[in-house]
Amino acid sequence: MIKVGNLHKTYGDNEVLKGIDLDVAKGEVVVIIGPSGSGKSTFLRCLNLLEQPTGGTIEFEGKNLLDKSTNINQLREKMGMVFQSFNLFPHMTVLENLTISPIQVKKEKTEEAKARALDLLNQVGLADKASAYPASLSGGQQQRVAIARALAMQPDVMLFDEPTSALDPEMVGEVLAVMQDLAEKGMTMVVVTHEMGFAKEVADRVIFMDQGIIQEEGTPEAIFDNPQNPRTQDFLRKVL
Ligand code: ADP
Ligand code: MG
Repeated sequence: MIKVGNLHKTYGDNEVLKGIDLDVAKGEVVVIIGPSGSGKSTFLRCLNLLEQPTGGTIEFEGKNLLDKSTNINQLREKMGMVFQSFNLFPHMTVLENLTISPIQVKKEKTEEAKARALDLLNQVGLADKASAYPASLSGGQQQRVAIARALAMQPDVMLFDEPTSALDPEMVGEVLAVMQDLAEKGMTMVVVTHEMGFAKEVADRVIFMDQGIIQEEGTPEAIFDNPQNPRTQDFLRKVL
């Protein structure tokens, strides 16, 4: 579904991504771990072109994302993204947050968009919050709405950038549970997280990024139980 080759990103003279190669198969859950500043967010943002890469190739569903003739907006609709901060529209109800893009961007019928939105709210355990405003919800509830909002566009892949890092500890579990459910339903996912339990349980593949490159990758068992790279070993000693 995604093929990244020799991806580079430089800010001024700061080379943040120094040649990333990564393929993601349909239905695969790839979890990216690594220290702060290693380029994880930059990598995710390059994947959906929130940042313009300075070199390399990105293919998504067989199309070259960096080709000028590619319809970027159309492809981007197929990639849902969830950030650390929930970024809901504060002046809209939960239901309106979920239906605005399908109606305005994809020109869906209002009734159709509403029906799917209610279904998604049910899926994330918030069926009773359709007419609530974001400010009246807890952080965990807001993040679950943000996930449902991304899903409302019917993406083929979901990108998560530390979706639980801004939450109070007691709310982390409910968001991870929604993500695990999504993974089990077959969604293709790329997840940056510090939640090592989630990585162990849900990832098909774990990527350890440091200093702008993939230092090591493998199954959760290989990475957590038998890391080979000294940098991986050092990082896991600090976080586990
Ligand atoms: P991570 O998500 O792994 O913590 P980031 O991708 O956020 O790492 O950042 C990697 C490096 O890129 C950092 O040194 C950061 O300062 C730099 N960086 C990120 N975004 C920008 C930007 N928009 N402009 C300049 N430098 C940036
Ligand atoms: Mg980051």
